[in-house]
Amino acid sequence: MRTVLIAGAGIAGPALAFWLKAAGFEPTLLERACRLRSGGYVIDFWGLGYDIAERMGLIAEIGRIGYRVQETRIVDDTGRRIAGFGTRVFSELTGGRYVTLQRSDLSRLLFEKVSGRIETVFGDEIVALDERPDAVRVNLRGDGERRFDLMIGADGLHSSVRAMAFGPQSRFEKPLGYAVAAFELVGFRPRDENVYVIYGQPGRMVGRFTLRDDRTLFLLVFATQDAQLPATRDAQEAMLREVYGKGGWDCPRMLAELARADELYLDRVSQIRMPGWSRGRVALVGDAAFCVSLLAGQGSALAMISAYVLAGELGAARGDHRQAFAQYEARLRGYIGAKQRGAERFASAFAPKTRIGLHIRNLAIKAFAIPGLARFAIGRDVADIIQLPDYSWPLLDRSAAA
Ligand SMILES: Cc1cc2nc3c(=O)[nH]c(=O)nc-3n(C[C@H](O)[C@H](O)[C@H](O)COP(=O)(O)OP(=O)(O)OC[C@H]3O[C@@H](n4cnc5c(N)ncnc54)[C@H](O)[C@@H]3O)c2cc1C
Repeated sequence: MRTVLIAGAGIAGPALAFWLKAAGFEPTLLERACRLRSGGYVIDFWGLGYDIAERMGLIAEIGRIGYRVQETRIVDDTGRRIAGFGTRVFSELTGGRYVTLQRSDLSRLLFEKVSGRIETVFGDEIVALDERPDAVRVNLRGDGERRFDLMIGADGLHSSVRAMAFGPQSRFEKPLGYAVAAFELVGFRPRDENVYVIYGQPGRMVGRFTLRDDRTLFLLVFATQDAQLPATRDAQEAMLREVYGKGGWDCPRMLAELARADELYLDRVSQIRMPGWSRGRVALVGDAAFCVSLLAGQGSALAMISAYVLAGELGAARGDHRQAFAQYEARLRGYIGAKQRGAERFASAFAPKTRIGLHIRNLAIKAFAIPGLARFAIGRDVADIIQLPDYSWPLLDRSAAA
């Protein structure tokens, strides 16, 4: 029991490859895209994910490329501040171990830890999967048939491995009633450095955040019951113009400049809820197994935690995958379930669907100015209720983790 095929080089995939290698396995990392994605949305990163990054020797670099957000500010149609709070509370709750960074930067840092040390395949994907008692046989579109002892899907919310091994996405997807779009504009003005500026109307919000190199990130979350979002860029832009066309604040200029964004990310805000994360020799990690959605604000950390625990359990079980998969799930299921329920609760506060809901949300945020209240309100969601198990890593390359 040695060889493990991992599909997906986002966050969970490279983290899993690193820890499997440290546990003595031979991982192969397969990524459908031709190269790692750059740009994209920013993520908040803290807690056990941060601890794992530290064990991988990534904290100095994360600190260098990360952003230290000072304030979350809610503005009205004219851009006037109507509520907000200093984000120092997050730093206090996490002992300063809290950073905001681009998801693609975290993905790149994780990948660099395994690049050159394991087999990596870009621009290919599995088209057929045959799980047998002694091995998993996969057919790769470009590379033909390959055989592995285990197969792990780390291929995100729309996982093909999940679809092939467990059934169609519709069986496990729980849409939260919102869609999310994200894009970057170069040279957008004004810039409010290190401030997360939020503008909301009933059922829709826009977040604006300044990045280095004169870039500005826009994150849009809006209510929708559409099961299918438009697939072409033109149709996606048309949808955003329709939803935000009557918006105040920066909306008109944001929409006017939308066409010059290099990439536009648009997806449903959904969770994945499965009765089990493994079947035979196939298991899932990260969003593929249990996507908590952006509303949990912690999906990347959870992806890393699941990778770490799965690799640790496989090492501890000396490759007995049945035992390892069962332990992996036993350790994490309750914890992940709590994060999913928290994200569902938070959905209505993030982009309230009614004017009164919006007003109440803003009042609640104003109340964060009362000393201690923000700490009390946010604390439960920021704290991790589990501890990272200590596994032995016989082949942990101390130089790679340094
Ligand atoms: C707008 C937004 C904001 C977010 N904010 C935060 C936040 O503040 N904090 C946080 O921690 N998390 C946040 N998240 C969640 C976080 O980005 C995800 O939970 C995390 O990226 C999951 O990692 P993953 O490796 O499981 O999946 P992904 O990062 O989605 O990676 C999956 C990889 O698999 C590849 N792939 C897909 N299909 C195949 C295939 N068939 N074969 C091979 N490869 C394939 C993809 O190209 C991709 O590289 C946010 C998400 C969104 C959308």
